[in-house]
Amino acid sequence: MRNLVIIGSGPAGLTAAIYAARANLSPLLIEGWQSGGQLTTTTEVENYPGFAKGIMGPDLMKEMRAQAERFGTEFLTADVTAIALTPRPFTLTIDGEQSVQAKTLIIATGASAIQVGLKNEARLTGHGVSTCATCDGFFFKGKELIVVGGGDSAMEEATFLTKFASKVTIVHRRDKLRASKIMQDRAMKNEKISFLWNSAVEDILGNDMVTGVRVKNLVTSKVMEIPCAGVFVAIGHRPNTTLFSGQLDMDAKGYIRTTKGTATSVPGIFAAGDVQDSVYRQAVTAAGSGCMAAIDAERFLESHTHIS
Ligand code: NAP
Repeated sequence: MRNLVIIGSGPAGLTAAIYAARANLSPLLIEGWQSGGQLTTTTEVENYPGFAKGIMGPDLMKEMRAQAERFGTEFLTADVTAIALTPRPFTLTIDGEQSVQAKTLIIATGASAIQVGLKNEARLTGHGVSTCATCDGFFFKGKELIVVGGGDSAMEEATFLTKFASKVTIVHRRDKLRASKIMQDRAMKNEKISFLWNSAVEDILGNDMVTGVRVKNLVTSKVMEIPCAGVFVAIGHRPNTTLFSGQLDMDAKGYIRTTKGTATSVPGIFAAGDVQDSVYRQAVTAAGSGCMAAIDAERFLESHTHIS
């Protein structure tokens, strides 16, 4: 029986662990098989306070994990495969076998990259199709690449990819970007980046490896083929909440609804980070809500049970 189990090892989960461990709650953090969350697939983080010169995403996560460990957080490198949220205590099944019981739970499972949903997209993933420039950019030295999307992620991925690629074309479905001004300016000033407006990738071409894309102009309906060696999809994220569906209140997009700080619809369960935030979705806001969730869980335990 645990006082507190935290699911997720991004900034929200690790910050919750730091606070909970320092409050002597002896938290167990289930970190999944790939620890660190979305920041482990990003490059330089320039807007996380405290790092005037910026810090690499994976390095930031390593520091957060070490900080949580220093205060006594216990880590379990595994996935939660099933969960029963009523009655309390909550029962978690780990990798289909082990069972853990928790008096309180913090859900910090984050969000995952959305795919366009093209026929060849899944087949060619890992063979030229990617959602992570940091992970895969290195393989495209001197090649021509396509980036799909018009938000900050697309600008960031495209800018990063110019370190390796000879040319990057951003394909966006509208004639206006959603990205922040600073990210837009950076991409637009980059001589290796060009834009294809009002356009959608209709198909990804190639047998064993990506060789090109078929792109349709959504205004003129003209279709053209563009040769390229890689396609980076950067069209946003979906909250990782399948495990809790039907057991917690969620909005239409599947984000967990929170009220009064980080409380979910089930007393004793708190949610932090991107899993409950479709608006801000920043590392620092995730960390902030992780801190809130730990304090909320601590107060819940104080008012409902004796902390052992
Ligand atoms: P986003 O802001 O939701 O942008 C998604 C983009 O993909 C939009 O331009 C959207 O087009 C396009 N899109 C969505 N579905 C599509 C589809 N099926 N086919 C083609 N295009 C599609 O997502 P994001 O760029 O991942 O950013 C998410 C959040 O993280 C934002 O708050 C962002 O500021 C933040 N972020 C910050 C940084 C940074 O500051 N370093 C880096 C990355 C992300 P429309 O514009 O037409 O809707």
